[in-house]
Amino acid sequence: PNADGLTWNKAPCRFCGTGCHVQVGVEDGRVVAVAGDKAADVNKGLLCVKGYHVGGILYGNDRLTQPLLRNNGKLTAITWDEAIETIAQRIFDSPSTFAFYGSGQWTIPEGYAAQKFMKGGLGNNHIDPNARLCMASAVTGFLATYGVDEPAGCYQDLDECDVLITWGNNPAEMHPVLFSRVTDRRSRGETVRIIDIGTRRTRTTDAASDYLEMKPHGDVAIALGIMHLLIENDNYDKSFVEKHCNFRGAEASEPTLQGEQISEDDFRKRISKYTPELVEELSGVPADKIRMLADLFGNHDIRITSLWCMGMNQHTMGTAINSMVHGVHLLSGHFGRPGDAPTSLTGQPSACGTVREVGTLAHALPGGRVVAKPEHRQQSEAFWNMNPNSINAVPGYHTVKMFEQFTKPTADGGDITTMFVQVTNPGQTLPNLNALFNDKKDLDDKFLIVSDVYPTATTELADLILPAALWVEKNGVYGNSERRTQQWFKMVDPPGQARDDCWMTIAIAHKLFELGYEGMKDKDGDFIFAVKDDEGEEIPIWEFEHYYATNVDKHLFEEYRQFTTMKHKNLAPYDEYVKARGLRWPVVEQEDGSWRETRFRFSAFDDPFVKEGQEFDFYHSSSEDGRAQIWFHEYAPPPEMPDDEYPMWLCTGRVLEHWHTGTMTRRLAPLNRAMPTAYVEMHLEDAKAANIRQGEIVTIESRRGTCELPVWIDGRGRPPRGTVFVPFFDETKLINNCTLEAHDPFSKQPDYKKCAVRVKKL
Ligand code: SF4
Repeated sequence: PNADGLTWNKAPCRFCGTGCHVQVGVEDGRVVAVAGDKAADVNKGLLCVKGYHVGGILYGNDRLTQPLLRNNGKLTAITWDEAIETIAQRIFDSPSTFAFYGSGQWTIPEGYAAQKFMKGGLGNNHIDPNARLCMASAVTGFLATYGVDEPAGCYQDLDECDVLITWGNNPAEMHPVLFSRVTDRRSRGETVRIIDIGTRRTRTTDAASDYLEMKPHGDVAIALGIMHLLIENDNYDKSFVEKHCNFRGAEASEPTLQGEQISEDDFRKRISKYTPELVEELSGVPADKIRMLADLFGNHDIRITSLWCMGMNQHTMGTAINSMVHGVHLLSGHFGRPGDAPTSLTGQPSACGTVREVGTLAHALPGGRVVAKPEHRQQSEAFWNMNPNSINAVPGYHTVKMFEQFTKPTADGGDITTMFVQVTNPGQTLPNLNALFNDKKDLDDKFLIVSDVYPTATTELADLILPAALWVEKNGVYGNSERRTQQWFKMVDPPGQARDDCWMTIAIAHKLFELGYEGMKDKDGDFIFAVKDDEGEEIPIWEFEHYYATNVDKHLFEEYRQFTTMKHKNLAPYDEYVKARGLRWPVVEQEDGSWRETRFRFSAFDDPFVKEGQEFDFYHSSSEDGRAQIWFHEYAPPPEMPDDEYPMWLCTGRVLEHWHTGTMTRRLAPLNRAMPTAYVEMHLEDAKAANIRQGEIVTIESRRGTCELPVWIDGRGRPPRGTVFVPFFDETKLINNCTLEAHDPFSKQPDYKKCAVRVKKL
């Protein structure tokens, strides 16, 4: 204990992908204080309003504390043994119809255990995370451009850029501590121009020097328009492009992530029609503003950082717009110097670490490997000491497909019959909830298992509810938006019988092992998660009383670490993360035995893997020549547009005070008082025309469902005429009844940002 009587320890914040570090104060087995960690490079002692209250998320009145089984509609308490037995028996009886739906809030060891359990143990690839709904298009954008995922730059770019462009992004509310790096610079007298490109005004707009209001999908046209002008005006970085880039186009007939290599002339021809005037027509942004953007990118004396998040990812052209914003930076040479970076942000604390790096997606394996490639399967089987052909070569169902199959009657081909949901709330976040979630309630043979900390919209339909440990009630490792891996230790006990998600996976695996399920044995006949003590005796980590006899996280992390060298995402040993406030990969051992992190990938001055003598090296280039790809995609309109029947655009999103579905933040009184209810933001003139008053309850109707909400005229976001905005944090007002499951063809990420609705007075 410190002089103040508290024991303090470090942990990353439980909420967003910024990954701020907090100091957690514990007294008498309870978290009683939280402070911004001054030693942390990410946040330098700052937290946002959610972070300052993060300790309170452990202590809501309605924590789940025991396993509950639904019998004839009623929930009955059962033991953990009964719960594990029930799950294991269902999987044993039908392993191929089981699906695991996980999360970007899984810790890295939790996700890794689930990944090994499914792909190695069961030979079943039906594992996918909620991150499919929030950043899958960023992944495909990075892969299509650089051949490897995740941003090249880091948060330092925000300290050094002259211009910050936010593409459909509202970091002032969604990543506030990160955004404060820029506003702090301004308050110190530095000039940073912020250009906000969006479909509605936000708090980011309030800080912006320029606001460019675009029509939904206008971002695609804007990126095309900038590239067109850079080439037309001969104002692109010829030397950078000549040395480091190829041009690539998507063939409309059979689009692939690889596309086809095209010549610079062909690229020039294809892009030539995207004149500022056509871009104005498609995007609504005036032609002179497109010229202004192109002139900025044509100026090499300044540094430009682009930021984006859900606006570009939840997009039926998500892969295209991601690739083309990278393309704008590559074509103009605004890449690879501190402050010159195209950077995507994640919404969840470990979407990068657990989903993208561990590869908990239906097609992936850890370390950037994929199930479809025989050599990748063989490498993974070797690391796992598993028999050949343990891993199935066919990718599993992505999120939308997984829930379609789960909510479709078995007799009609709905071939997912048991689903385990950990650390996420699809009953609130899936698009088109009536079709993708609510239909489950009429299907008696479908079995939904949900592990969570509080009752949620998802537990409403669960057949078995498992009480989970949360945040510092367990050990953990997260990976944030700038490739920073962050570790923390368990500080307090979970309430009642709540237990670690990772333990649940291991306990189910061991029960299958006991039942004689061959896949849960490795090549030597040992349990696939076996951990031995110093005398070589196996520690029964599947029994919770023995789970903390060893640091299971450390064992899993060290095993996982082997994969990370396969695609230059090298991690340091676990103990290095115990000492540090996170390290950005690739982390490479130095001659003196220390471990050095990397801030700027592909740039010779910082990245240890750049070949000697080169200034830049895209060493995972999909064209295998060390070059990045500059993409051309033809503009296409959104999948659903307002019409006479449904005349308004609906955009959904988040608010500063609540984190995602509000499961945790709605239990924090100060935050809930500050933002007690969801609402629909409407333009004053639209409200007047429909005779709707401030605060009046209206129904938002789409072709898929309805949602009743109070009206907030103009609201925080001030949407333009013809557009309404609704946040999704409120479990009593499910706006995802209305949204659309149409998704990007490559990333399979749905578009929550645009569909057609009408607003009706009650
Ligand atoms: Fe937590 Fe994100 Fe706020 Fe930082 S910005 S304190 S990580 S919610």
